[in-house]
Amino acid sequence: MDPSISPETQATPPFFKNVEFDGILSCVHCGLCLDVCPTYRELGLEQDSPRGRLYIMRGLWQNELELNQDAIDPLNRCLDCRACETACPSNVKYGELLEKTRGIIQENLPQSFKEKLLREVFLKRVLISKNTLQLVSVLMNVYMTLKIPKLITSTFLSKILPKNIVNGQSMLPRFSGSSIKKKYAEKGNLLPTHGREKKFRVSFFTGCIMDVSESATHEASLKLLRAAGCEVAIPQEQSCCGALHVHSGDRQTARTLAKKNLAAFGIDQWDAIITNAAGCGAQLKEYHPLFSDQDSDAKNEWHAFEEKVIDILEFLSAVPDFPQELPWKNGEEVVLYDAPCHLKHAQGVDKNPQKLLNLLPGVRLVPLTESDWCCGSAGIYNLIQADLSNAVLQRKLDSVEQTLTRHPGAKTIVTGNPGCLFQIRAGIQSRNIPLRVIHPVEYMAERLLEH
Ligand code: SF4
Ligand code: SF4
Repeated sequence: MDPSISPETQATPPFFKNVEFDGILSCVHCGLCLDVCPTYRELGLEQDSPRGRLYIMRGLWQNELELNQDAIDPLNRCLDCRACETACPSNVKYGELLEKTRGIIQENLPQSFKEKLLREVFLKRVLISKNTLQLVSVLMNVYMTLKIPKLITSTFLSKILPKNIVNGQSMLPRFSGSSIKKKYAEKGNLLPTHGREKKFRVSFFTGCIMDVSESATHEASLKLLRAAGCEVAIPQEQSCCGALHVHSGDRQTARTLAKKNLAAFGIDQWDAIITNAAGCGAQLKEYHPLFSDQDSDAKNEWHAFEEKVIDILEFLSAVPDFPQELPWKNGEEVVLYDAPCHLKHAQGVDKNPQKLLNLLPGVRLVPLTESDWCCGSAGIYNLIQADLSNAVLQRKLDSVEQTLTRHPGAKTIVTGNPGCLFQIRAGIQSRNIPLRVIHPVEYMAERLLEH
């Protein structure tokens, strides 16, 4: 433990006094989480391990540690990947504790200019306004059509511009310039099944950035759902899930977004609320900790909403006779699989998506070495902790190269989270690895024949 974080220092005022933090006492300091923690493996410091961070959070909660930069920095360096939760035998809800702590820090301490700018402009303006998002998408679409990212990364500009701006060019989403939500509003907003009788009535979550970028992923999702016998609705009043807000401590904005989504989707009219972004899915399934002060009726309502939310791969894997009843291309191919942290560790979804992809005729799915190791994307972590994010990414790329050595015929990696797609795609490009990186639903939709 960093000696500057001294248990003798008395913190005032007691910001953590009335917060539910009892779960933190379940940590028995066994250390079984240390080996799976990407930041501990990179930095080798106890305060950058799950156990060390829990020690800091407990010290703050019990008012034994001062809330100063020495305490805050290790908490900021956490990826919130939640690999430690999967490893923990005592079921410590690490993610929830970290996010509550970050909320208290954000509400009570002054922020740096960079953090304020990111929060006020990106999180509180761009992400929550559909008109602003669409405008950004149009502008970014032009930016990419003019090949400005290439100009920045391959000319003298790469030497004079800040490193994170240069590196960020290859992580940009594929902005489409239009909104999927808007497109289907113009088509009546309710899509019938395709080629099968109706079995389910589901609603579809489009997200914020995903709504105006990666349109191929959303189109593929809708195609597969309809082919599986779903009537699909796209509620127009839905908004950003709030995950980036929660991860960065802005719980107030996240609460507003959660209420908007509850009102937009409701609970009773759908068999399921489908997401194709692991990070969004994890957040939509964990709204209730944002409202721990509500009465039991309100809490039950959040739980009912959360139970309806399901990742698209998990949903499709439970549809009877899917994919066997549909016509698929049957060319043989090895496909590499990356498990997004917020699918595996936060939602507990891992085996079923892999089984589903392996059921496609001719497809052999091979998990990457350390498939469930974080890629370093982690929301806006790759913007605010660029060096550590890059170090974590390099480990992921080493895993990709090792797996490719064993399976040289593979041409595709699939991963079910947009942040991971952008991050791994950028890494693959930087090392000239001959692979494409796409969402699993895009891969499945490519292999689905007309029927
Ligand atoms: S594995 Fe769980 S109980 Fe053990 S140190 Fe880590 S968080 Fe604590
Ligand atoms: S969430 Fe990830 S980075 Fe943070 S302590 Fe747990 S394993 Fe380490």
